[in-house]
Amino acid sequence: MSTPLLNFINGAWAQSSTSNVLNVNNPATAQVIAQVPISPANEVHAAAQAAQTAFKEWRRVPVTDRIQYLFRLKQLLEDNIDDIAKTITNECGKTYAESVAEMRRGIENVENSCGSPTQMQGLFSEDIARGIDEFMIRQPLGVVAAITPFNFPGMIPLWFLPYAVATGNCFILKPSEKVPLTSQKLFQLIEKAGFPKGVLQVVNGSKETVDAILDHPLIRAISFVGSTPVARYVYSRATANGKRAQCQGGAKNPVVIMPDCDLEMTTKIIADSAFGCAGQRCLAASVAITVGDAKNSFTEHIADIAASRKVGYGLDSATEMGPVISADSKNRIKHIVNGGLANGAAHMLVNGLDRTVGGYEDGFFVFPTVLDQVNPKSELATTEIFGPVLSLMHANTVEEAIAMVNDRTVGNMACLFTSSGTAARQFRNEVTSGNVGINVGIAAPMAFFPFSGWRDSFFGDLHAQGHHAIEFYTETKVVVERWPKEWSRKF
Ligand code: NAD
Repeated sequence: MSTPLLNFINGAWAQSSTSNVLNVNNPATAQVIAQVPISPANEVHAAAQAAQTAFKEWRRVPVTDRIQYLFRLKQLLEDNIDDIAKTITNECGKTYAESVAEMRRGIENVENSCGSPTQMQGLFSEDIARGIDEFMIRQPLGVVAAITPFNFPGMIPLWFLPYAVATGNCFILKPSEKVPLTSQKLFQLIEKAGFPKGVLQVVNGSKETVDAILDHPLIRAISFVGSTPVARYVYSRATANGKRAQCQGGAKNPVVIMPDCDLEMTTKIIADSAFGCAGQRCLAASVAITVGDAKNSFTEHIADIAASRKVGYGLDSATEMGPVISADSKNRIKHIVNGGLANGAAHMLVNGLDRTVGGYEDGFFVFPTVLDQVNPKSELATTEIFGPVLSLMHANTVEEAIAMVNDRTVGNMACLFTSSGTAARQFRNEVTSGNVGINVGIAAPMAFFPFSGWRDSFFGDLHAQGHHAIEFYTETKVVVERWPKEWSRKF
């Protein structure tokens, strides 16, 4: 095995001093494709110091000049999208098409951050009292850091990085230790884009590295995306240390199917939501609630689509769904489903738990699985499974369905399928989820909208993307100014 992956600190690639390394696997083959170091606190310190030094000059670079680096990065990402997408597929498992789509959503954030010259503008009120003006300006925080999950190794770092540097901050990325190779590719392009040294760093690692980031006095703000327990922990520790924090957590997304929807189209959309990226999207449909007469036909259609989905290695062009991230993840999924079945909490409708893919027998594959008559109070209905498992439940009215949607602690996304504007309006008004889809199965906000998870899907107040990102990465300064005539020198 070659040497462990490098960190990128102060404009140079650096080997970690640690001997504590983890294997990175290709989930389709189980082969070890790299080793990632668990960087210790002194390497986080080196990154923070380099960023702090760079900040003194970077904040002075006009925002119109700062975004020129991002324009260059956008072009480099476009030119290298094929290479990055293949890297994502090989370390994360999703299909090539899904990897390209992920990068498109990431690049969209680079584009949006290039609007920072207007998005950073302040406010000005003339004559708030006689001869006195008051204005508000936005200034960068300093050194900021992001800690990201395994399921979107290309897109999620780009929810934060472009906005942070466009607004004048210096940035540290701690990518998921399960998928560190995509960040290596991103940072090779960042190097080519010519950002001044110290503006952007990547420090690899896991909990130990995260804790060093959360405790470091120079790091002013933390952006986190991952599971709810870790999001809660990161938020508590970061804010206890006086940092600004935005922490996006896990999900358990319900979709509601009304009898008046276009059932064929709806079933296809829900199958893509539930089984796309092997169910490892924080916006994956996980619970399908049929209303009234929708039950029988939806159940039949979804079972057919689930059973026929082509599962395999993500770089094979015929593949429609790849593996889950790890053997642990596969075992966890099987454990939760089998536990629910043993407790009588559901009936197995389509069983994808124990199938293998020819030629990839060691891969971490779970085929689409559909559970029927799931008890709404059971673990199957409330715990994030994070695999291609869809739980079916039933309600008699839209009100009953909305109550079931809201009967959970997380609130990342909720969707309704209907041809009734009245039902749609009631649904979007009453559901306690931050991202809502009407006849849409993955209600992923564009880069110019905030990614609005609610309740245990988010800790903080300013979300990723859009204007929230600009606000998160800047401090407001209000100036009240008087220039009395009698104090002016006479010319
Ligand atoms: P995770 O919580 O295990 O890891 C996320 C990050 O936290 C990684 O960088 C990891 O190194 C670090 N980490 C893990 N355990 C830690 C600990 N005990 N202390 C400090 N740091 C720790 O999440 P994951 O498995 O990589 O990603 C999947 C989860 O992310 C799912 O729950 C999914 O719903 C969620 N997610 C949420 C969103 C969203 O926008 N809300 C988006 C994508 C993924």
